Amino acid sequence: MNLESIKAVKQLLSQPQKIVIVPHKNPDGDAIGSTLALWHYLVDRGQEAVVIAPNDYPKFLKWMPGNENILNFERENSQAKEKIAEATVVFTLDFNHLGRIGQMQSVLEDLAVPFVMIDHHQAPSDYAEIMYSDVSMSSTCEMVYNFIEFMGDVDKISLEIANCLYTGIMTDTGSFKFRSTTGRTHRIVADLIDKGAENTQIHHRVYDTNTPGRLHLLGCALKNMVILDQYRTAYITLSQEELDAHEYQKGDTEGFVNYGLTLEGIIFAVIFIENKEEGIVKISFRSIGDFSVNEFARAHFEGGGHNNAAGGKSDRSLKETTLFFESLLVNYKEQLTA
Ligand code: 5GP
Ligand code: MN
Repeated sequence: MNLESIKAVKQLLSQPQKIVIVPHKNPDGDAIGSTLALWHYLVDRGQEAVVIAPNDYPKFLKWMPGNENILNFERENSQAKEKIAEATVVFTLDFNHLGRIGQMQSVLEDLAVPFVMIDHHQAPSDYAEIMYSDVSMSSTCEMVYNFIEFMGDVDKISLEIANCLYTGIMTDTGSFKFRSTTGRTHRIVADLIDKGAENTQIHHRVYDTNTPGRLHLLGCALKNMVILDQYRTAYITLSQEELDAHEYQKGDTEGFVNYGLTLEGIIFAVIFIENKEEGIVKISFRSIGDFSVNEFARAHFEGGGHNNAAGGKSDRSLKETTLFFESLLVNYKEQLTA
């Protein structure tokens, strides 16, 4: 965050504001962790603030302190709209273009108040007056820690803030193993543990929440895996029928895509998940090394994200989507086998 932006935020927060904090649609650990951490920080400073999530999120994130105060834009629509109408400042966290917030897009687009972006994705659009955008960061939670530091308030990081930030850094770094994990990331995590972050319980609450249905769905996904050795690629499909047969609940497929990368020699892993209700196939892409799934998702599947983790979608049927995907690979053979 540059000095000018820090000065501008300090100026904003020197007055009482009505603050709306927004994560992206289908929020993950980093999105909920960062928005709740910022919410605690601002409320502790005496500001009026509310987190409004575009839609619901998995149960394994709902233990986080402050969760009960999050408004769900789909479920609590009129209350959420009222808060947005009253807002004097909007913070958007863990995304960088308003197309990532679903139905909230049109409501926020029309709002004439200062926006503050805190985000680590590629190619930010320019809706925010104050931008803290850094693609080298492991997570938005690491950036919220930095933000609090810029404000001169590291000593005000409470147990609640520490737990929220630890969660998002943990989930976005694949438990501290992705390339974006730096010495600084570990030093921040160490400081959060010193401030009380309950690291062992957090791992347990987020990762040890399987239901029998989810484990069976994982079995189904692994059985469906297609391995294309010649492209060092593995992909998984899950049809709506298969999801229904395993009492699918939101969040159940989280992490499935990573199994492809545990195969020796595989550097590109994909999961295609059919969503009949939305009429799309939702896609997650992961890679190891230099192959940019962000560029791949952007070029072919209306998506984006990071170099090694991105998402996108397709309006074709599940079968047509995977056929199309396979047909693309020949153009990437050199990159994938380099
Ligand atoms: P996931 O595959 O876990 O849903 O997402 C991986 C990364 O890609 C996340 O950083 C997420 O924000 C981003 N991402 C997921 N879906 C989309 C999408 O449809 N569009 C864009 N631009 N980014 C996405
Ligand atoms: Mn993130």
